[in-house]
Amino acid sequence: MSETVTEHYDVIIAGGGITGLTLACALRHTGLRIGIIEQHAPAPVEDDTALRVSAINRASLQVFDDAGALERMQQLRVSPFREMHVWDSTGVGQIHFDSAELGLDTLGYIIENAVIQLALLDVVKQAGAIDWLCPAQIESLDINDEQKRVKLVDGKELTAQMVVGADGSHSLVRKAMGIELPRKSYQQQAIVCTVETEYDHQQTAWQCFLSSGPLAFLPLADGGCSIVWSLDEAEVEAMIALDEQGFSEQLEQSFEYRLGSVKLVSPRAVFPLGHGHVERYVEPGLALIGDAAHTIHPLAGQGANLGIMDAACLAKVIAEALQAHRQWSALHTLRKYERRRKGDNRLMETSMTGFKYLFGSSNPFLTEMRNIGLNLVDHAGPVKQIFIKQALGQS
Ligand SMILES: Cc1cc2nc3c(=O)[nH]c(=O)nc-3n(C[C@H](O)[C@H](O)[C@H](O)COP(=O)(O)OP(=O)(O)OC[C@H]3O[C@@H](n4cnc5c(N)ncnc54)[C@H](O)[C@@H]3O)c2cc1C
Repeated sequence: MSETVTEHYDVIIAGGGITGLTLACALRHTGLRIGIIEQHAPAPVEDDTALRVSAINRASLQVFDDAGALERMQQLRVSPFREMHVWDSTGVGQIHFDSAELGLDTLGYIIENAVIQLALLDVVKQAGAIDWLCPAQIESLDINDEQKRVKLVDGKELTAQMVVGADGSHSLVRKAMGIELPRKSYQQQAIVCTVETEYDHQQTAWQCFLSSGPLAFLPLADGGCSIVWSLDEAEVEAMIALDEQGFSEQLEQSFEYRLGSVKLVSPRAVFPLGHGHVERYVEPGLALIGDAAHTIHPLAGQGANLGIMDAACLAKVIAEALQAHRQWSALHTLRKYERRRKGDNRLMETSMTGFKYLFGSSNPFLTEMRNIGLNLVDHAGPVKQIFIKQALGQS
């Protein structure tokens, strides 16, 4: 017979990925008792750069700094990028951002997901009132009463005044709330791998819009590049079937030899691509953050950044309510979080989908327009400022 232990928390965070851990760190000074439930222990940071990396914008770096985790990330391994170069392979359209022109030292960092998680986890472990429950898998949730009940696969039961769903795109918390994520597939997948390049990456994040989908070369601290290559499903299959040499050749050709020859130095992983956004983020004592609430195309490297902003915003709303002695888990409090985040998240989802279709089209009129558009933006100061703010996460 399985053991049933009931432990009570003020907040249970379902999911200890990037957004769940960010929320826990951001709440660490509130005095709330927090439990984070995560099924998989974060991967260790190895000598070689891990396959999964994220482009983290300046606004998110500020959140990590406030959370006390940025310095640890810098000690572990980060790769600042100082420029961004985006172009359309079908024409002459291009856009270029340079941190020096903006008076900034960087536009952001490329960071391994494992580094982000480990640094945030270090903060969590030092905070007295946060329990890291891992490995622990949520089996079911009973959220109908004021006191929420979370049942784990090992039979343990936990209760909480509030449960936050930071449990990713297949969120159990979202399902328990009866909220659907209307996820639409792009009928594309992303190949993720690491390469060495003949020429220096110049601390630049490179993105080429091919008619088959966007191809990104993200600069890594060891001099290599992390690749995110979005293609139709059949093309992905063909690319994965190639040997290392054949794949490297396809990659360098598609990237127009901007960094010379390319050598694959890692396995190739494949991720399905889709997008979706829930209608409601909150209910009394319940909230969704990160991929549990919205997923977007990785072409602008924004998914994790949006989740980090959700976490920071929700923590702020709760902390403000606690300080004002208001009901911190009540619907009217949590709605503030929803109101503050939903517009930005929706805008980003819609923009990414628009970009994806605009740049995926071979219609000659659209091809012409997007090339003119890119060059116009590159030369029109105020419009470029809007794009820059978006890229830095300061919109
Ligand atoms: C190819 C690719 C490249 C990307 N590049 C970027 C980028 O450059 N920049 C960027 O900002 N974003 C990027 N993204 C998006 C980013 O990876 C995601 O938006 C982000 O990881 C979402 O974080 P999350 O914590 O919300 O969800 P997740 O990372 O999905 O974390 C959810 C956590 O919950 C846990 N969990 C789930 N169910 C349970 C359960 N029942 N019990 C216990 N634990 C559970 C999971 O184990 C997991 O750790 C990219 C995405 C892809 C696919």
